[in-house]
Amino acid sequence: MTFNFDPRAIARSLYAGEFRPMFIGGRWIGARSDEVLAVTDPASGQPLASVPRGGAADIDDAVKAARAAFEGEWSTFTPYDRQCLLLRIADMFEERWNELCVSDTLDMGLPLARTLGNRRRVIGMLRFYAGQATALHGDTISNSVSNDIVTFTRREPVGVVGAIIPWNAPTAASIWKIAPALATGCTVVLKPSEEAPLTPLLIAKIMQEAGTPDGVVNVVTGTGAEAGAALASHPDVNKIVFTGSTATGQTIARAGVDNLKHVSLELGGKSPMIICRDADLEKAVPTAAMAVYAHSGQICIAGSRLFVDRAIHGEFLERLAAYAEGLRLGHGLDSDTDLGPLINAPQAAKVETYIASARSEGAELVTGGARLAGAAYDGGNFIAPTVFGGVRDEMTIAREEIFGPVISAMPFDTLDEAVTRANATPYGLAAGVFTRDLGTAHKMVKRLKAGSVWVNMYHAIDPAVPFGGVKMSGYGREGGTEHVGEYLETKAVWIQTA
Ligand code: NAD
Repeated sequence: MTFNFDPRAIARSLYAGEFRPMFIGGRWIGARSDEVLAVTDPASGQPLASVPRGGAADIDDAVKAARAAFEGEWSTFTPYDRQCLLLRIADMFEERWNELCVSDTLDMGLPLARTLGNRRRVIGMLRFYAGQATALHGDTISNSVSNDIVTFTRREPVGVVGAIIPWNAPTAASIWKIAPALATGCTVVLKPSEEAPLTPLLIAKIMQEAGTPDGVVNVVTGTGAEAGAALASHPDVNKIVFTGSTATGQTIARAGVDNLKHVSLELGGKSPMIICRDADLEKAVPTAAMAVYAHSGQICIAGSRLFVDRAIHGEFLERLAAYAEGLRLGHGLDSDTDLGPLINAPQAAKVETYIASARSEGAELVTGGARLAGAAYDGGNFIAPTVFGGVRDEMTIAREEIFGPVISAMPFDTLDEAVTRANATPYGLAAGVFTRDLGTAHKMVKRLKAGSVWVNMYHAIDPAVPFGGVKMSGYGREGGTEHVGEYLETKAVWIQTA
């Protein structure tokens, strides 16, 4: 892909190692402790900036600011005012899209061609929720007690929302939490990942410039154990929306028990991809590959358990390996990069441990399986796209979320067996099926236990389509009209008229 702008020039203008304050109550400030966290480019290891290491006191300041805004100026905004604000933010995102995407790429390494491609998932989401703002309504209910009583419901904002997000999609994750909050009249305290806090701060800046009242959106940078935990347990936060690992999600759900917070959780996955013998391999091979490699495997919906009909298993793996070997790894700002780095050294070491476990448990390495060395990869954490064949369901790589570019391929003999094995996981985020037979497709869709099922495609996400998981992949949905309900309370009103 060629870019019609100079990404490196934007990168230089954005981050030159300086301190980037956080955003509380409309003010750009440091942590009360004055401590900072360094943020580096995952593709080069070069410093990008430093951010405040916010802690419990900073979270408390942000929650107070969000509460004051919720009860103050923001409460006077009509749904139409909120709609206009969201549309203004969307327009400013259009204008500054290249800048936002360069920032996203620097934050987490995803190739720029891909971050640029997230336009609909981000700007479309802002516009979708702008539409929802004026579509909120309650019901009038025939009162069964008396003809002289009018009963109706009001949908009211839940209040202060704490949003905690991971590092693998800073722009989309921020907007998927902030847009529904603004549409419904809530206020937000966002805690980005310590690995990728820069784009959420840029987003807050754009929202401020768009006229978002002080305190409506606050961003507190810091670690999960400090800022994240303080937000999850804060008694004046009404709802937590969390995207991240299942283990952290469980901790957050427990932390919310004391004040019975509403909690929605978008968690991890170990998603199956089922390739039937009648699949169109021209489409299925690249789709199965990119179902995992797209974010270098660092994506919750990675279709990392690849079930292939035994009749085509050998040919499929050969073609998959050839496709994987043709992918170019490099810095996300380079136009010819297909795959970026892993987020940091511990993540790369974790993936290497999984690769070692696969070898020792008897899986057969088809391609990849090693770190890339050489000048182009210095300072970054690049692991070659990897395919293991001969994987058995009980092997560690077939059971645990790797969050790296590793596909576990397994043959199957019957569709019944494939779907049973596909469902044999604690997770239930997504699933993919490749078949030309409509009957097979419908049967699989019905039986697969997952929040999203894609047939003859993968990875599609749209603001109007609900996204989320079942089982240990969490609860609650993002996107779709039902999602706004998660930011609202229903008040029943009774009026005696005679
Ligand atoms: P993580 O759970 O380690 O961290 C996510 C966020 O939670 C970060 O902001 C972190 O600082 C914070 N956090 C950590 N410990 C906390 C605590 N005790 N209390 C409060 N906050 C805490 O996840 P990660 O490594 O950043 O992201 C990878 C995980 O996210 C994977 O498991 C992936 O599947 C999942 N994920 C899920 C989705 C989805 O939509 N289902 C999307 C993206 C990522």
